[in-house]
Amino acid sequence: MRPPRNLFILFLAVVALPAATLLLLGVRLLEQDRALARQRQTEILEQACDRGVRALEQNLAILTKRLADPSWAPADIPGDSVYVVLRPDRVQATPPGRLPYYPSGQMLREPPAEPFGELESQEFRAQNLEKSLEISRKLAASPDALIQAGALLRQARILRKLGRAAEALQVYTTLSRVTSVSIGGMPADLLARRARCALLAEQSRQSELRQEAAAIAADMRAGRWQLDRASFRHVAGQVETWLGSELRASNEEEALAAAVAWLHQKWTSTPPDRFPSTGIQFQPFGSVPITILWASGGGRVAALVAGPRYLRTHWLAEVQKAASPARAYFAANGGKPVAGDAPPGRRGDPRRVQRTAADTGLPWSVVTAGAGPEEESGELAARRRILLAGFGALLVLISAGSYLIWRSVNRELAVARLQSDFVAAVSHEFRTPLTALRQFNDLLGEEDDVPPEKRRTYYQAQTRATERLHRLVESLLDFGRMEAGGRPYRFQRLDAAALARDVVEEFRGEVTGRGFAVQCSVDSGEYLVDADSEALSRALWNLLDNGAKYSGESRTLELAVGRADSAVAIAVRDHGTGIPASEQKRIFQKFVRGEAAKSQGIKGTGIGLTMVRHIVQAHGGEVRVESEVGQGSAFTITLPGVTSDK
Ligand code: ADP
Repeated sequence: MRPPRNLFILFLAVVALPAATLLLLGVRLLEQDRALARQRQTEILEQACDRGVRALEQNLAILTKRLADPSWAPADIPGDSVYVVLRPDRVQATPPGRLPYYPSGQMLREPPAEPFGELESQEFRAQNLEKSLEISRKLAASPDALIQAGALLRQARILRKLGRAAEALQVYTTLSRVTSVSIGGMPADLLARRARCALLAEQSRQSELRQEAAAIAADMRAGRWQLDRASFRHVAGQVETWLGSELRASNEEEALAAAVAWLHQKWTSTPPDRFPSTGIQFQPFGSVPITILWASGGGRVAALVAGPRYLRTHWLAEVQKAASPARAYFAANGGKPVAGDAPPGRRGDPRRVQRTAADTGLPWSVVTAGAGPEEESGELAARRRILLAGFGALLVLISAGSYLIWRSVNRELAVARLQSDFVAAVSHEFRTPLTALRQFNDLLGEEDDVPPEKRRTYYQAQTRATERLHRLVESLLDFGRMEAGGRPYRFQRLDAAALARDVVEEFRGEVTGRGFAVQCSVDSGEYLVDADSEALSRALWNLLDNGAKYSGESRTLELAVGRADSAVAIAVRDHGTGIPASEQKRIFQKFVRGEAAKSQGIKGTGIGLTMVRHIVQAHGGEVRVESEVGQGSAFTITLPGVTSDK
């Protein structure tokens, strides 16, 4: 039988709803836990960010102080940075070759014009080249480097006009040894070397040309001359044509030069008292973001012009050290990282804290970011595991509880069903003999003169019906007493074989009319037992009665008394329907009837075998069944035997 529908609803209300509520509460708890952990992480990141900013500010303060000190020079400058000192008359860069060009050319002295008046009037007006050459030679011997340089330049020019190229080359070589003089804004030595190259090119002396042009390129790269942007471009252009290869500054070098130019322009265009004594500026030059940190005073500005690598390896490293274990990076105003990498994550992620440029006075935002979700704190993970285990246990408990409830309810329902079946069966059992009694009563009442033969027959039939009713009532009362545990047993020593014979005899009288042959066989020997004769008779009667009821077509029953070891065994055997193995255990339970018995409408109440087992157990014995469907059944009672001398 299945539990009714509303039982499931009840189950839902009692078990499933509280379980669901608990589960929901658990989930909320976990969520709260996670929020708390996130908050804690944010706090950690806030502190890390502050530590990082403080460390960086200290570092920058020290560096600014050093920049202000004219005796200080940086020990090592990374490849994408430069240390510059700006003065009104010159710009000094460390390391020397780092800047391809400067805000202004080097301020060198130019040769005066008037010593060369005579020479030039001979050269141009009188067209007397020999005379002018002679004057130039005299002037070139001057101890004054300026006059010497001016004379050498003109001498080479005149020689070229005269077509004496070899000599002109010689003179240019001499001029290339003159330093700290500039001619027309170009250092004299560079001018001389360029002129030599031009001459070599004219004469198609390729290998010499390439060698000398390469030497100029190398010196330019090494920062030998401080050229302004236009001069640099011009010379570089020439050298490139002579060499056939490019002499370009890298993006980084261009950016550094542009940054220095920016600072120089700012400095020279601001009145000295208004120019900030220290400052830091971050902006991209070309495609390269550059940071400029400067200190000014005493007619000079010293600056560290730093590229992205410097930012990363010096300042970010400093911040990272202080902010550890949080990860740090610098971001531009738009949030784009300018040094270090932003960890992947959504915008507005709580696991990210920043101090903006406005907060700190630094030119970029300092950001600290937390570990990803996969690295979340071990404590939280442990707590979650415990909670999940708790839920698992709860679920198992609820399931087990539900199953037990379901099973016991099912059982109760089955018992209720059995009981109602029992009541129906008992009523039915009563009805048959009562109907018979009423019939004979009616017959006796209606017929005034009943012949003695007929009267006897009626009488015998009535006696049988009464007997049956009596047995039924007795057996029900007995069953009731047994169930209540109040059935008294009066044990006495008796012969089990004799008792069995008597029961068979009596039973024969009951069933011979229906064509049954009941055999009773007793093995030779004594079968003394201590037993309640009435109870034991009832047990045997019940077994014989069942044998007859479930005999089907068969009409033979056997009762055998024998020994099994020291015990007395009484077996009742039929050749009827038999009992399926699945039912053999259950049929001893109260009210349980076999499926075949019910479906074939065989009368019965389901208490017969229960009483048999009860009685046998009260005697310290046992009852067992062997049966095969279609072959018949054998019920064997074994009772502890006693010897006569006992
Ligand atoms: P009932 O009043 O139904 O006979 P019992 O307790 O005596 O109640 O027997 C329980 C069930 O055991 C029966 O309904 C029947 O299915 C089965 N049974 C008992 N004895 C036999 C038998 N000799 N042959 C076949 N089935 C039997």
